[in-house]
Amino acid sequence: MTSWQEEIKNSITTSKGLCRELDCNEPDIASVSNLYPVRISPYYLELIKKEGAPLFRQAVPDKREMDDPQGLIDPLGEENLSPVPNLVHKYPDRALLLVCSECAMYCRFCTRKRKVGKAEMAITDKTIAAGLDYLRATPAIREVLISGGDPLLLTDQRLEDILKRLKKIRTIEVIRIGTRVPCTLPMRVTPELAAMLKKYHPLYINTHFNHPAEITPQAAHACNLLADAGIPLGCQTVLLRGVNDSPEVIRDLMCRLLQIRVKPYYLFQADLTRGTGHFRTSINTGLLIMKSLIGSVSGMAVPTYALDAPGGKGKIPLTPDYITSLGDTLKFVNYQDLPCSYPNTVHGVQFKV
Ligand SMILES: *Cc1c(COP(=O)(O)O)cnc(C)c1O
Ligand code: SF4
Repeated sequence: MTSWQEEIKNSITTSKGLCRELDCNEPDIASVSNLYPVRISPYYLELIKKEGAPLFRQAVPDKREMDDPQGLIDPLGEENLSPVPNLVHKYPDRALLLVCSECAMYCRFCTRKRKVGKAEMAITDKTIAAGLDYLRATPAIREVLISGGDPLLLTDQRLEDILKRLKKIRTIEVIRIGTRVPCTLPMRVTPELAAMLKKYHPLYINTHFNHPAEITPQAAHACNLLADAGIPLGCQTVLLRGVNDSPEVIRDLMCRLLQIRVKPYYLFQADLTRGTGHFRTSINTGLLIMKSLIGSVSGMAVPTYALDAPGGKGKIPLTPDYITSLGDTLKFVNYQDLPCSYPNTVHGVQFKV
């Protein structure tokens, strides 16, 4: 057994196990974990002990998960957008293929909370084959996002088998893997894994860090191995109340991601997922955080703040407003809120909105 498989084997998955290690109310945890699974690896447990609340809240069940009547079971309407089970086809030219129902950690705020880590998710050789058939039959799809669960919880061999079959589909130009493993189980990223992935370029990986305390030497090493294999790395952070909903924390996170060769890609407004209401922030909080980033840090550290619209209508970028008036002269404020302007008539044509 490899070290990452040992980590999974030694992970906490029960309320008893959890309350032996961390300060929590066992009956509360038990009632939540009956519905939504728990998994915390020894690696992440140590980080929680060292760093406290922002990491604790991401991993440890909260009884508020059971009381969220506003929440939607399938907030992005994924099941309706699945022509075959475990393949989501929302945009014309890209599709999401779910290849693994497990994760290294079950994040309490997960959008696929309804099924991740549960028997209902039922990913089998048959569902993967059906997904690949659909991709072969749909040449408009140029990019496949491999997700789950977490694809990097598959063995190298199983993952390679899927990549090999994808690679044979001529109409697929790019493969993208979504994984939280560099953050939650960095020892999973081995030189062997990186060498295998390297054969399937152009391959991109989007990972998922939510707090600067998650950027450990081990996480940096994992990202380094992937980047050295020529894999461009992005990050999809979720804006979470009590975890990272402040300009200082997000700024620190984004700058540290760049240092470990990860380009911030999206900052997501929390989805309306049932059982995650206590994590939600207002959109205004997100806009103020974006305002504090833009111009004051490297442009490369600035992600796109986006809302994944309920019902599967797609991602909507949310940007602070810099235009203050649209008369003969366009008026703006800059990143420091200083006024500036630009003529609204260029080559005799006036812009209208
Ligand atoms: C987010 C998402 C994508 C990818 O969107 P990008 O903006 O290209 O990152 C594709 N398919 C589904 C179903 C998605 O939810
Ligand atoms: S790693 Fe991703 S898919 Fe898995 S529980 Fe966390 S957010 Fe959900």
